[in-house]
Amino acid sequence: MTRSRRFSLACILTILITCATLWMSRPGMETGLATFGGSQRILAADAEQRWYRGNLHTHSLWSDGDDYPEMIALWYRERNYDFLCYTDHNVLQRSERWIDVEKSAGHRAAYDKLKLLFPLNWVQERTTNGRLEVRLKTFGELSERFDEGGKFLLIQGEEITDKFQKKPVHMNATNLQEQIPPHGGNSVYEVIQNNTNAVIAQRERTGKPIFVHLNHPNFVWGITAEDLARVRGENFFEVYNGHIGVNNAGDSIHASTERLWDIILSKRLSELDLPLMYGLATDDGHNYHHIPSRKSEPGRGWVMVLARDLTPKALIESLEQGLFYASSGVFLERVVSDASGLELEIRAEPDVEYTVEFVGTRLGFDPTSTPVLDKNGNELDVTRQYSADIGKVLAKAVLNQSKGSKVSYHFQGNELYVRARITSSKQHPNPSKVGDFQQAWIQPALGPAAKR
Ligand SMILES: [Zn+2]
Ligand SMILES: [Zn+2]
Repeated sequence: MTRSRRFSLACILTILITCATLWMSRPGMETGLATFGGSQRILAADAEQRWYRGNLHTHSLWSDGDDYPEMIALWYRERNYDFLCYTDHNVLQRSERWIDVEKSAGHRAAYDKLKLLFPLNWVQERTTNGRLEVRLKTFGELSERFDEGGKFLLIQGEEITDKFQKKPVHMNATNLQEQIPPHGGNSVYEVIQNNTNAVIAQRERTGKPIFVHLNHPNFVWGITAEDLARVRGENFFEVYNGHIGVNNAGDSIHASTERLWDIILSKRLSELDLPLMYGLATDDGHNYHHIPSRKSEPGRGWVMVLARDLTPKALIESLEQGLFYASSGVFLERVVSDASGLELEIRAEPDVEYTVEFVGTRLGFDPTSTPVLDKNGNELDVTRQYSADIGKVLAKAVLNQSKGSKVSYHFQGNELYVRARITSSKQHPNPSKVGDFQQAWIQPALGPAAKR
């Protein structure tokens, strides 16, 4: 072949490939599903897998919750949850622990309810110096009583409760095998990294699946986006926590948890070369009496995990693959992300409207930031202010049962990631913040402009 013929052939080939690529990536195109190596995600129940609803953040009388752990298991099981992870502060439910009934956080009323619902020698009690005491059930006893193959599962966990100076750094470890004491560190970032490393080390040593996540970043304004973005091995945080003191929505000085999420995702995908961060919803329940009231109560936020079976292993594998969504009231039938974009289908209730917002950051966004200043011009130690290019609402739709409950977002070609937020027109029946609507958070999917 002559040099000029080789050149012409190369030109024709280049043009053909370019045309094919442009055709494949044209906006709004309906492509098949199996086109995007490794990043296709289909979340829909079928013969092999189903949705499991669970709460990954729970306190009991083992730490600062106000009810017995078996009463809490019963509460969740009776409300159609499939799994529940106990996460008391810096403790696993393992030792022999007796509590003073009257002095305990639940007082006599909690004991009376316990005796009513668990008669027949379940409650072990004694009198010490004239005071009534009850032994708290261990995780082994609880799981033996409540685990029901495929129907309900209790998981052992801990809220590793650490801090840096006055800033709380709380991290949950799900399916933890041995208690992890808080590891500390010389900055918020280091505290998160050190505790993450401790969980990963236990996971590697025991060979058990163990899952770590960062809790309520805005509790006492402990964690900034800059702290969390660069942590390695920690890819989950609570975008929603049902405790009343956690400031999910931020304020005039502090970014909301969703804003943190978008800053973290944009930094990870453009500068830090780290994986996606996924968002969880949890209860962080402490108060189990007089529901609903304005305390930190169960039933506010949960995860829906698509898994092959109801075991810690299957649930954790699915969480790590992003096969779940977070919810405070909205349920979904199906979520698909692939080469063409994202598609979701809501399990719509009659007479309810659902606003779906697809949120993402595009390649070429402005990465610069400025510090937040107090009224004297001093820099505050809070998440910095970034451009509106980060976490932009890229598309919006309003759905309802009669208009249809499905919507898609088609990649334009320059997205680093896209996630979705669904807000119902129905108010949360027992919100952590008065006025909250029921929501769901769909996990981010890598966009066409993200490095793979
Ligand atoms: Zn906490
Ligand atoms: Zn907690």
